[in-house]
Order: sequence, then C-alpha cells, then structure tokens
Amino acid sequence: MLETPWLQKTGYLLNAAAAGWDLDDLQEQRVALPQCRVFFDFDNTISSFDVLDSLIEHFAIDGQWRVLEQRWVAGEIGSKECLRGQLRSLRATREQLVDYLATIRIDPYFKRILDVLKAQGVHPLIVSDSFSFLIETILKHHDVHGVRILANRLRIQGDRLIPSFPYENPACCSCAHCKTSHLRNEDSLGKVLVYVGDGRSDYCASMQAHVVFAKDSLAEHLEQKGKKFIGYSNLQDVYEALKGLNHG
Ligand SMILES: [Mg+2]
Repeated sequence: MLETPWLQKTGYLLNAAAAGWDLDDLQEQRVALPQCRVFFDFDNTISSFDVLDSLIEHFAIDGQWRVLEQRWVAGEIGSKECLRGQLRSLRATREQLVDYLATIRIDPYFKRILDVLKAQGVHPLIVSDSFSFLIETILKHHDVHGVRILANRLRIQGDRLIPSFPYENPACCSCAHCKTSHLRNEDSLGKVLVYVGDGRSDYCASMQAHVVFAKDSLAEHLEQKGKKFIGYSNLQDVYEALKGLNHG
C-alpha cells in the first residue's frame, strides 16, 4: 500500500472533506487514482445539457410541468414531488423515448476518463436524480458500457411513465435520489471521494467529497459555502486533472 500522509492519520479524510482539496492539495497529498472513488452526475455533466428537462419539455401534453419546475426552483417542493407530477404530464412510448434519446450527445472525454480510471482499477459511478433507463439508453447508444448507474427508476406502460425512487432518504424531502448516501456508505470509507457535477442535485453530495469538480450553480454554491473545488468547463478539464494523478 502506498504511504501517503492521509493514510497515516485516522479521521484525517473525514475532516479533509469539509474543507475540500484543489489540484495543489492533490499533488501535496500524493493522491493516486486507485485510492479514489469517483462519482459523476449525468445531466449537464456527462451530457452537455439537462436531458431530463428537455425530454419533459418535448413530451409534455400541458404546461403543468413548468409550474412544478418553478415550485422546485423556489424550494417549495422536493425533486420527488416535482418529478412525479411532471411525469404525469408526459406521453411517450418506449420507442419514442429511445428515438429521442438517440439524438443526445455526451462529452467525448467521458470515454477517455473511463479508460484512465479502468486502467487503474477504478470503477466510477454515475449518480443521478434522473432515471436509469434514460441514462443507460444514451450511454448504450454511444457504446459506453460497464459503468454503474445509480438513479431513479422508470416503468413504461404504453405511453405512461411511472417513476419509483429506490434511493430516496425518508428523512429528507429535498432530492428524489439521495446521492449523499453513496458517499457515506461502506464502500466509500477510507477512499478519496471525487465528485463531478454541476447543479442543485449535487449540492449536498459534493459537501461529502474531498475533491469536487464543479461548474455552474454547483460552483456558486461551493463558493458560498467556502469549500474548495476545482472549476471545469467540460470533461476534458477533468480528464487532464485525473490523468495527472495516474502515477501513484
Ligand atoms: Mg446535473
């Protein structure tokens, strides 16, 4: 096992997550990829825009979804209530969804990141407050396989979409999918937690990570919280940074 300063100190990692690490800290701590557990948000992180929002807009039969969206943005309802209500306004068969999802592009550097991680025995996770069927379909279309996806579930009956939420936290109504729970579970213990995200559903989980790649409202949120993060504009930035840790 590699001897790094953080491995020698019990509890050091737990405290380090609160302050966050930037690129200089990563070098200083001599963090190598095999010591990391890496989490990716999907919408507007791996995809270049919010796929779920666009899909809802495309297949909605009325404007009710906009009202729910505004209530969610205002913090009046959680994402579970929002998503449940929004899906009630959608009419789309499996075939229509698959056709639509075939038009969605992903950041080309995601595949290159996967290659770098897999070469070091790191198996990243996608944690999303969207639906696994949508993400799986998009990734399959781009020939991306073998990435574990943790997300809400979707059952398709005719042209009706019925959601379920296997990772909700009953004690918190903010997110339909409690991403934070994956950063706090046993598999994450003793690991350097790396999180890549962009938006509101990443606020809570990113506070648990040691290294956060952040853009857009997530970057603003972390700025306000006084937590260090690494800004990025696309996954090429993340790729370059992670590749730099490849010498452990
Ligand atoms: Mg996102």
